[in-house]
Amino acid sequence: MPKFLIKYDREGCIGAAACAAVSDKWKIVEDGKADLLGSKQDEAGWFVLDITEEELQKEIEAAKACPALVIHVKDENGNSLAP
Ligand code: SF4
Repeated sequence: MPKFLIKYDREGCIGAAACAAVSDKWKIVEDGKADLLGSKQDEAGWFVLDITEEELQKEIEAAKACPALVIHVKDENGNSLAP
């Protein structure tokens, strides 16, 4: 059971690339938006990726750096940790 997860609303990404500057889990691709590497899309269209406690701090930074506020970091109980 993962302790933390990232939820990403890719549709709202404006391609600012702040996430990719902070964490190597993020990569700007052909359409100018960021991909969350290794993530899976859920029924609601969110891209979701489980992360470890060791990876948490960088992803919180990425979420806070995103000007579009489309990156969300949550704990295992669904509590929001960032932004
Ligand atoms: S920082 Fe936010 S808006 Fe910018 S590329 Fe990353 S996800 Fe998209």
